[in-house]
Amino acid sequence: MAETYIPLRIEDDVMGLGGTLFCPSCGGNYLHHNHIDTYFRHKEDSAVGLAVTSESQFTTVENGQIGNPSPRRDGIRIKFWCENCDATPSMVIVQHKGSTYVGFEPEMSTVPYKPRYGKRN
Ligand SMILES: [Zn+2]
Repeated sequence: MAETYIPLRIEDDVMGLGGTLFCPSCGGNYLHHNHIDTYFRHKEDSAVGLAVTSESQFTTVENGQIGNPSPRRDGIRIKFWCENCDATPSMVIVQHKGSTYVGFEPEMSTVPYKPRYGKRN
């Protein structure tokens, strides 16, 4: 894998909803997902496939695989914004050689995200 991803930190399940994901920047547990990219290659190593981007009020569908976090197979990117700091981290799920990897991308935008709802200091 080309990048070194930041490992996830997840709090134990306390509400029956699954573990709480912590912000990789400040360690807070108020992350909100607001954007999802999914990539499905037609076959292994294919440069084309299905790329679907979904955000709060739109969805786009393309055939290219530019931006796919997996160099050879399928991948998912979920973008978050943090209530506690200005980080906008992206978590990726990468299929590679029969295994599935998950982590935060090392680059985090410093441009604050303006949420549709929720509080922001
Ligand atoms: Zn944060």
